[in-house]
Amino acid sequence: MADATLKSSLQACPLPRLEAAMLWQHVLGVPRSWLLAHDTDPLPAVRHAAFDALAARRLQGEPMAYILGAREFMGHRFTVTPDVLIPRPETELLVEQAIAALAGLDAPRVLDLGTGSGVVAICIALARPDAQVAATDDSEAALAVAAGNAAALGARVQFACGNWYDTRLGRCKYDLVVSNPPYIHAQDAHLGQGDLRFEPSGALTDHADGLSALRLIVEGARHCLTGPLAALYVEHGWDQVEAVRVMLQHNDFEGIASFRDLANIERVTSGYLQFSNFPVSRTP
Ligand code: GLN
Repeated sequence: MADATLKSSLQACPLPRLEAAMLWQHVLGVPRSWLLAHDTDPLPAVRHAAFDALAARRLQGEPMAYILGAREFMGHRFTVTPDVLIPRPETELLVEQAIAALAGLDAPRVLDLGTGSGVVAICIALARPDAQVAATDDSEAALAVAAGNAAALGARVQFACGNWYDTRLGRCKYDLVVSNPPYIHAQDAHLGQGDLRFEPSGALTDHADGLSALRLIVEGARHCLTGPLAALYVEHGWDQVEAVRVMLQHNDFEGIASFRDLANIERVTSGYLQFSNFPVSRTP
């Protein structure tokens, strides 16, 4: 094996070429460009052993993000461990819409419920250094990952452990509440497939109809929203948009809007509460 090269390894490996190349980058600690320039160099056997160990994990189905310990989200590199959901591209829509909603509001106060790896709270804090961003999760292990990410990326976020609003931070007042809660129905077959098998089940499913966490978030929002924005932005499943909109209507939200992800699925829904002490005229 001492004479094996990157090229021969990539050819022999049953993994998709891109995944095998990413594992080699990780083992060698090099950028992609290095692989392209050195693909016929012989590599030491010890490196092959390390690569083979990672490839074996991937062949068992373990997600790339957990093997590499990281995932890109909105152009930032986040540490991820099996204690947190792997950030999804569709959640970038939630973050983009939340940041857009904050435009024009000075020093906004933002609460992210069920923060997991912290991607939503941290990207908002990075986009709006004047914001006071709070994030909660019921998993101490997840909060440790989120706090590490915030520190590594230089984002100012406060964290508290507890169930949805039931934390020290959940009892404060905010201009915006944002959440990507567990919304997969307990019986959804996807929970037994692909990456989801390895992710924390409490971050994926409410172990019920998929709407129970969204219900708690929508119902509780009135107690902590305030100000002229008083907006709630939630991510939800591909078939939950109507249910979430009805939930928001029943809880006196106005200006209800849904946003489509890159797959053209309505994936994020928002609404705001109108308080009589903040009479702001809005366009729907
Ligand atoms: N969007 C994720 C999926 O379908 C689920 C994440 C979540 O429940 N918040 O895989």
